Amino acid sequence: MKRREFLLAMAAAPLLPRAPVVQTVNGPVAPEMLGVTLAHEHVLVDFIGADRVSPSRYDRDAAFRRALPHLERIHALGCRTLVECTPAYIGRDVVLLQRLSKASGLAILTNTGYYGAANDKFLPPHAFTENAAQLATRWIAEARDGIEGTGVRPAFMKIGVDAGPLSAVDETLVRAAARTHRATGLPIYSHTGDGVAARAQVACLTDEKVPLQSFVWVHAQNERDGAVHVEIGRRGAWVSLDGVGRDSLERHVTMVMAMRSAGLLDRVLVSQDAGWYHVGEPDGGTYRPHDLLFTDFLPALEARGVSEAEIRRLLVDNPRRALSPTR
Ligand SMILES: [Zn+2]
Repeated sequence: MKRREFLLAMAAAPLLPRAPVVQTVNGPVAPEMLGVTLAHEHVLVDFIGADRVSPSRYDRDAAFRRALPHLERIHALGCRTLVECTPAYIGRDVVLLQRLSKASGLAILTNTGYYGAANDKFLPPHAFTENAAQLATRWIAEARDGIEGTGVRPAFMKIGVDAGPLSAVDETLVRAAARTHRATGLPIYSHTGDGVAARAQVACLTDEKVPLQSFVWVHAQNERDGAVHVEIGRRGAWVSLDGVGRDSLERHVTMVMAMRSAGLLDRVLVSQDAGWYHVGEPDGGTYRPHDLLFTDFLPALEARGVSEAEIRRLLVDNPRRALSPTR
């Protein structure tokens, strides 16, 4: 190649490998833009079951009005991103999430994948007949083309498995998530009943050659044995202590401190699994606010000697790393 052609080719080529982006419901952002992140919350959930769930079961404007003040409240407290963990067939509504994100100023992330916990009540019929490759094809299509014709792309996968050894359908979901990860780089959040199910998923994902830093053990607080948190954290997976609430606050502080003592604070996510507009209840039922983590939990950690740098790691650096797509 002549020198001039070589220089022109170099000028046309990107100088850096394509930087990873995180898909928010209103478009892609650099991971560094996520800021303070609540890693596991909900704004709307419908527990009616996969056979009857539908946006026609609620008034989207009413749900919007109910959730917005709670999102504005955490934005005023410094939160910049909310990870909305409601999967398809249990109330995922990306149009509502887009509106709430625009109105509140919060970036909101949504998901692809199916929720196989709760004895499979929230799985569509095809989840029982299709294999992992077929399910992955559906999820990869959402990641590439958008969700339900909206163009909204998921930032992560959300699956769910029951406690104990993986059932056949739960294992299919995990293997479908692994395939989707390999095609898209999206991280895998999995609602997990207990440490047995966490270990089983870690084994399955290892078998599928998925790096464990792309696996988020959701509801790790359900496992009372902190030694399992340490074990899974040491394997490189994310230990999501996401049930911070008024009654469980001290327990979550203790679990975070145990991970810190084990040198594993950089594998921990904290959030509240709070919210949401309960479809089917008058005016959406009781909406649990998303602000307790800021008003009570962080001060409780600081009182135990957790530094500002460590708080930043929990709320900014760890979510950014967990949510950055990888291959
Ligand atoms: Zn949840």
